[in-house]
Formats: sequence, C-alpha cells, structure tokens
Amino acid sequence: MTNPFSILGISDDVVNAVKDLGFETPTPIQEQSIPVLLEGNNDFVGLAQTGTGKTAAFGLPLLELIDFKSNKPQALILCPTRELCLQITSDIKNFSKNISGANVVAVYGGANIMQQLREIRIGVQIVVATPGRMLDIIGRKAIDFTNVKFVVLDEADEMLNMGFQEDINDILSTTPDDKKTWLFSATMPPEVRRIAKNYMDNPVELTMGTKNAGNVNIEHEYYTVRARDKYAALKRIVDFNPEIFAVVFCKTKLDTQDVAEHLIKDGYNADALHGDLSQQQRDKVMQRFRDRNMQLLIATDVAARGIDVNNVTHVINYSLPDEIESYTHRSGRTGRAGKTGISICIVNSKEIGKIRQIERIIGKKFTKADLPTGFDVCEKQLFALVHKVHNVEVNEAQIEQYMPRIMDEFAELSKDEVIKRFASLEFNRFLEYYKNAPDLNATDDKGGERGERGERGQRSNEGYTRLFINLGSVDDFTRGDLLSFVCNNGKISGKNIGKIDLKGVYSFFEVENATVDSLFNNFKGVEFNNRGVRIEKTADGDGGGERRSGGGGRGFGGGERRSGGGGGGYSGGRREGGSSDRRSSGGSGRREGGNSGGGFRDFSGRSREERGGSSAGKREGGSDRKRRS
Ligand code: AMP
Repeated sequence: MTNPFSILGISDDVVNAVKDLGFETPTPIQEQSIPVLLEGNNDFVGLAQTGTGKTAAFGLPLLELIDFKSNKPQALILCPTRELCLQITSDIKNFSKNISGANVVAVYGGANIMQQLREIRIGVQIVVATPGRMLDIIGRKAIDFTNVKFVVLDEADEMLNMGFQEDINDILSTTPDDKKTWLFSATMPPEVRRIAKNYMDNPVELTMGTKNAGNVNIEHEYYTVRARDKYAALKRIVDFNPEIFAVVFCKTKLDTQDVAEHLIKDGYNADALHGDLSQQQRDKVMQRFRDRNMQLLIATDVAARGIDVNNVTHVINYSLPDEIESYTHRSGRTGRAGKTGISICIVNSKEIGKIRQIERIIGKKFTKADLPTGFDVCEKQLFALVHKVHNVEVNEAQIEQYMPRIMDEFAELSKDEVIKRFASLEFNRFLEYYKNAPDLNATDDKGGERGERGERGQRSNEGYTRLFINLGSVDDFTRGDLLSFVCNNGKISGKNIGKIDLKGVYSFFEVENATVDSLFNNFKGVEFNNRGVRIEKTADGDGGGERRSGGGGRGFGGGERRSGGGGGGYSGGRREGGSSDRRSSGGSGRREGGNSGGGFRDFSGRSREERGGSSAGKREGGSDRKRRS
C-alpha cells in the first residue's frame, strides 16, 4: 500500500524517516499544508495550535525544496523560545536523517555562541533560531542569508507577545525579497495580521479548526472559590485526579515558587519552572517532567512557552493570564497529538467576566464545575487504589518464596477481611485528612449562573429535573462521555441536558422536564460494562442528600455495586459528619506532616524526608520520585 505521506508528495528517504518516528498517517494540518507548501511558490499563513503536528507540516516540504548539495543557508525558521528551537531542530534532524549532506543548526541564547558560529561556518542549509541570538550573529556578519528561499515564522503570536517584532523586522531585512514566508500562529491578533500584510504577498491561508479557537480535544472548566481557598482547591483537584500529569500556571515567579514549595512540602511530586532559575536548572526540571518523574510542573507563562510534552492530562490556571490571548497557549499544553485534555481555571467570583472573555476568544463554552467534596476525593482515591491493586503486575518468580509466610499471616482472615485491610492501608489517610474538609465552592454571584450551592443540595434549574446516575469518573467517564452516554441511550439531544455534575462512582445531570419520562423508558435495561445502569430522580432541594446520608447502607455510593459481597463494602456511613465509624480502622499513623498538607501523594511508603521533597531547591538533588503509575 502506498504510504500516505508519499501520496502527499514526500520522497522515500523522508517517508522512511517519519515512519521510524511512528508517523503512519499525516495529521490534518499536515494533510492540508504539505501539498500547498510543496509548490514552493506561495507565502502561507497557517492558523494552528501547538501539538497538531505543525513542525512536520512545514519541515517535510522544506526538506523537499532545499538543495542539499549546496551548504548555504536556504531556510530560516524563527521561533520564540530556546525549548521550541531545540525541539524543531531535533525534529528536522530526525526527518532528514536519510538525506546525505543535510545540516541543521540551532541558534538560541543562553548557550555558547562560539559553537553555534562554528557550525554555521562549516555549512548549513537550515537555521532554526530565536530572534535575539539570530540578530547577534547577523550583527557579527557571521552568516549570509542571500540564498534564503524560505522563512518560517513559528508561533508568530508568541514572538510578538514576547516583544520580538523589531528583531524580526531586522532579521527579515537581511533575507532576499523573493523568499517565501510561511507563518504559523495559534491565534490571529491584529499584530500578526499586520505581519502577514507587510511581509507576504497574497498568502494562502489555512485554518485548522475554528479561527482563534482552542484545540477541539480540550475541555474547559472553571471552579469558583474564595481567594483564600485557592491552594486548597488546587490540592483537591489534584487529589481527585490520581493520574494527573499537569502544568499549573501562575502569574508571577514568586507565586510559582511559592505554590511549588507548598506542594512539595505537602508531599506532592511538583517543581517550579520560572525565569529566575538558571538555564541548567530549567533544563533539569523540564527533563524530569518530560520523563514523567514529576507530576505537577508549576510554571510562569514565559518559562512554559514552547513546552512540548505529550500526554499532559490537565492545564491548571492557578491564576488567569493578564493577556487573555495567553490562555490559548496555556491550554495548548494539553490535548496534544490527538489526545484529550482538560484546561481548568480556579477563579474567584470577580473573575467570571474574564472567563466570558476567554470563551469569546476561543469560541468555546466553559463548564462551571464544582470542586469535589472530601468524600468524593476519598472515594476516587479508594477506587484508584483498588484498580491499581487489581491490575498490578505480579512478579511470580520473586514473590513465590514469600507466599507461604504471607498466607500464614493472613490465615485467620477471610478474603473480605484481607481485601478490606489492603484497601484501608492508604484509604485511612485520605479519610483522616478529609474528614472535616469544608466545601470550597464559593457562591458565584456574577455571570448569571444558577444560584445553586451546596454539594448535593442543589436545586435543579427551572424547567429541568436533576437526575442521579450510577456512573461516574471511576468508570473513566468525562462530562463529555456522560453527555453522549445519556444522549445515545436516552435517545435525546444534548440540547435537552443541563448541568452535569460528574462525581466518583455516580453523577448528577439535569434534563428538560418534558424529556424525563421518555429518558426513563429508554434507559430500561441499559447496561454499562455488564452492570445495570440506574437513573433516579433526586428530590429537589435536598438533591442527592438522601445519598449523602448513606441511607440504606449504600455506604460509599459505590460499595454496593462493586463489592458483590453483601455487607462487605466500605461501610460508608455518613459522608458529611466525619462520623467516627468511618475513619476508624486505626488510622494509619503514616500521614506525614499532619498539618495542612496531608502528604497523600506518595503511595510508596517512604517518608517525605526519604523522598527528598522539602523545598523547590531540592530539584538539584537526585531523589526524584517516580510518578505513580
Ligand atoms: P508538533 O505540533 O509538531 O509539536 O507535534 C506534536 C506531536 O505530534 C509531536 O510529538 C510529534 O512527534 C507528533 N506527530 C506529528 N505528526 C505526527 C503524525 N503524522 N503521526 C503521529 N505523530 C505525529
């Protein structure tokens, strides 16, 4: 079968190289741009998010258009940051590994200029550069751009945000008038439009997704909290997402350092990335993050520019950016390479207006989400642990020798008892920490939101009925998944559905009153993973309150459906009152710190000291802890 990159016009050497990288089919941006750019006679504007495969979209055609027999610079790629510069260079080197004589140089600040000058002197066809250092080298008359045929301006909006407009003007003035300019940008503010107008001749314009819109794979959510509860809210979000791998954005270096230090002190696997760190320190932090040896990267906008790490599950806006446009760049750190991601804003009620502004810019609605209760977190962590125990890979050879002794230890206990004790090992610590956890949701008195409050005691919107469903995030549902599940099985349209409250083992959603009966009918006999799906009306006013009381021995809401062992369950009891029966089981006594932190992140059994996480300064140490998997 012909390779789809060959069909687009890419030669075999390059096709084989991208195949080695695991690129089997072109991404949408590659499919659209490559044939246009291969013509080589157009200026070009591509509106595209990061993570969409942009580098190959311009990199592959460039390799087809350059004469590698000549050692003169023929393509110049300008980008905003050192990280992006290194990334693009490495990508292009990989794409061109089968082309003999292909030379690419990375030109960026903060590194030895002599080495870069040496490489240029030896001869290169492609220069990838940040504007400041490029201008420095031009000023030294160390490079000749008279043979440049293509200039790529990557992340043009970011370059302008960072104040590189004049540098770009100066650099471009040293390149021939008849070169072709290819501009890529995530957003199209007037300044970028102006560049397109000033430097380009009738450019071909391609928009991937909606103009200025965020990546379609990203869900946007906001949580309203009182300013003083922000940090607690952050921790709660992290605790509710045991597998989180996130970038947390703060406005200032001080905040960044502060939040990172608090998280580390509280036992989370976090570190800070900001401009006060040396380049070497920044590289180390980024390497740990890239290797997934760190779960939470706390960063400023500037430091995080160009971060190219796949599989980031969440972007958390601990503070909103001053420049609303920066939101697109922040959220673009997740949802890369076709993956889904969630971008979260933690705001106070005065900032709702800014959320609306962002909605207008990205052309997408935010979901107003409620912070999970302490109970929800406990439940979520419990089932994460249960899943983990269930799926753990057993090293039969190694464990075999200990089995007789282990079995001996448990000889007196029933299977139920043993399971209960394993689950309690970590669960007790969460219960202890969250036993009196307050509701952190602040009443949102702006923006025309519903006047609901309270975790479960929510009233349904007028014209809507609030329903309980026994599915939730432990079933790997996102709000979007739940919406489609309800629509598909209930045979109703998404327009009939109001607010969705995704919880752990259950959720709530609103449906228009007129569709309730047919929904109930259609849901008869519906199953999910061989389990009957149950929907129930919640009494308005006390909403799921009945569930909260643990009435009918439902315990943790999900105990019944998972235990299968009558009465085993997790003996839920009351979720609110912190009743002593729930946190009995002896309390593990292993909760470090004992103060605000809780130190719940480490399931390895090591103490915080052993983990070496006492301040952000620890980053130099070699005690990195592997992210829990
Ligand atoms: P970029 O937007 O160029 O930073 O690319 C984002 C990520 O997608 C990088 O990790 C690329 O290696 C990856 N990627 C780009 N194109 C493809 C493709 N056609 N197939 C699979 N992965 C790709």
